[in-house]
Order: sequence, then structure tokens, then C-alpha cells
Amino acid sequence: MTWRADVVVVGGGQAGLAAGYHLRRQGLDFVILDAEAAPGGAWRHMWDSLHLFSPAPYSSLPGRLMPAQPGETYPEAGHVVDYLTDYEKRYDLPVQHGTRVDAVRRDADRLLVEADSGTWRAKAVISATGSWSRPFLPAVPGRSVFTGRQLHTVNYRCPADFADQRVVVVGGGNSGAQIAADLALDGRAGVTWMTQRPPRFLPDDIDGRALFDVATARRRALDAGRTDTGGVASLGDIVAVPPVRAARDAGRLTAKPMFAQLTATGVRWADGSQSDADVVIWCTGFRPALAHLAPLNLRGARGHIPTDGTRALDEPRLHLLGYGDWTGPASATLIGVGRPARDAVGEIAGLL
Ligand code: FAD
Repeated sequence: MTWRADVVVVGGGQAGLAAGYHLRRQGLDFVILDAEAAPGGAWRHMWDSLHLFSPAPYSSLPGRLMPAQPGETYPEAGHVVDYLTDYEKRYDLPVQHGTRVDAVRRDADRLLVEADSGTWRAKAVISATGSWSRPFLPAVPGRSVFTGRQLHTVNYRCPADFADQRVVVVGGGNSGAQIAADLALDGRAGVTWMTQRPPRFLPDDIDGRALFDVATARRRALDAGRTDTGGVASLGDIVAVPPVRAARDAGRLTAKPMFAQLTATGVRWADGSQSDADVVIWCTGFRPALAHLAPLNLRGARGHIPTDGTRALDEPRLHLLGYGDWTGPASATLIGVGRPARDAVGEIAGLL
């Protein structure tokens, strides 16, 4: 079965919905194809205790402020799912859930979007597939030797799953800090947090609001041809959300240096010292989920696709949205994706 649309958006998480909002406003003919069975993108799969690192109004997509969650300054992931569900309905966005796109190919003056339910012929494509489906695990020696359990952030749910186990949490970013804090505050597992360099906490009074301001300043500097301010990385890595702060202040969130290798029963450091472990949780980040774009042969350095803003340099009918700073400062956040979504749709409207 083959259909036609001016624009096909691949991915119906927050980035795909922000694109949909602007496509609707421009009056364009479009469809959003999303592999998830229901709205919410990656937010449907986050761990139980996860809270946003910004208050609700600072976690909003274009057009509609996220309502506050009663009793929570920093909303839970479930609240984001409710917000995205409502957003999809409110703007009557044509999202086809349960539809996975396998490939995007060139076909003369159209792009063919091949999904498991059929093929779409599109004049332009916005890829907004996020990175949750591509967890990254570093090549650490001994990973295949370790006889305990290994999982990634994407598989972590709650401390009860690790009662009475010795758990090593690897990673000095927000996920590592939050999961280590979750386990440490619960107290049922023995948790050791390991980071490649000493963890860098943002000042306690800085949350996602300030991160967004810094990202905005960076964009302005770059737009004006001034020096890159370094963006949010200039401030630090870890937002001291309440559980992280509580665990840190209670002395239960101190990081050890990263081990050199895994052994059959635990970890070993470069100086030969060892520690036993039952579980390793890799909070080691993600890579953009771009496999469906492979037929276009656009890959550049570090698995990214070279872009000007959101537009693929070597395929002007393709825009990449929401993957990170390389597709727009703070574009991988709820509040930050609105502007690149508007710019991408503006360019596509011009192209059509
Ligand atoms: P996703 O939410 O991953 O949505 C992509 C969608 O595309 C999914 O529905 C997926 O199923 C679908 N898809 C993927 N491949 C295909 C395909 N081939 N065909 C069809 N569909 C496909 N941001 C904030 O603003 N505030 C926070 O507090 C915050 N906390 C975070 C905490 C964690 C642990 C993580 C990992 C991220 C956090 N972020 C936060 C960052 C960001 O907001 C989320 O990662 C967000 O989910 C990214 O949205 P997205 O739409 O780009 O991707």
C-alpha cells in the first residue's frame, strides 16, 4: 500500500509533536508515524522515581504550557506522558501509533518512507526518532566475562528489583546520579557509583530553567558569529534535583573512580584492587536512532548527519529534530525543541 503526504514526520515523541504543531499552523498536509503503541515517546519508559529537572512551565512545548503537577515542583514522567497525550489530541495531530519506519529512500522528486504498514511518498521528511532506542554501552574490557547482570538506564525501573544485591552504577551524568541516588536512598541494595571523572554538580539553585537560559545565550552567541559559550556544559553536568541532593547531603552519593575492567565476579581498578558486584547498571548515554536514514548515505562524524540548523546538508528535503545540540541548542529538551521545530517547518514550507 502506498500513500502520499507533503511531509512525513518519523517519530511521535515530544519532537515529532512540536513539529506537528507547526505543520498544523502552516496548514501543511502531513502525517506522524510513531513506533510506540500510545503517546509519550521515551517518557513512557522512564524509571518510576524520575522527575523532570525543570518545573512544569519550563517543560512546555509550543502553544500549550504544561500544567503543574499537584504536589510536585518537578513533574514525574507520567505527568509528561499525560501532557503529551493531551497535546496530541488538542491539536488533532495525525499520529499513527504502532508504525515503525524501516527506511527512507530517494525516489526522483520524492522521498519514500517505508514503514511496516506501507510506504509513504513525501516531499519532505522530518526525522524525530530520539535516542532512547539506541542505548550506548562503552567497550570496557571484561564485559562478556562478568557473570552478574548488566543493564542500561533504559531497563532500570525501581530499587525493589535490586534488594540485597551489590549494584555498581556507572556514569557521571544525570541518569547515573539519579539512579544511584534512588538506590542509595531506598537502602535495600548496596550501591557503588562510579564515574570517569569526579562528578560535577550544578549549584543547588540551578535547575533546567538556567540550563535553558544558557543554551539560549549560546544560540544567540553563535547566531551573532560570536564565540561559543560552551553551552550547558560550561555549568556542570548534574542537576541537583531533590533526591540527588538528599542522597548527596546524607553522604550516600559519593563517586568512586571508574574501574578498568569487569571480572567474572565484579570490577577491578587499574591498581589491581577489586570489588565484588552482582549487577552493573550502565548509565552511559545514548546515540541518535538514525538507522532508518541509512539508505540516504548521509552519515558524518560521530554517527551524526551533517546539518545546517535542522536541514541535512546533502538532502535538503530531510530535517533532523530533537537529537541534541547538533540539531539546535537544547533541542533534546521539552522547552528547547519548539524553536528548531518552528524553523524546520518554516524551511519546509518555503521548499514546498
Ligand atoms: P523520544 O521521546 O525518544 O521519541 C521518539 C519517538 O520516535 C518514540 O516514540 C519512538 O518510538 C519513535 N521512533 C523511534 N524510531 C522510530 C522509527 N524508526 N519509526 C517510527 N518511530 C520511531 N528533557 C527535559 O526537557 N527535561 C527533563 O527533565 C529531561 N529529563 C530526561 C531524563 C532522562 C533519563 C532522559 C534520557 C532524557 C531526559 N530529557 C529531559 C531529554 C528529552 O526531553 C527526552 O529524551 C525526550 O524523550 C526526547 O524526545 P524525542 O521526541 O526527541 O525522542
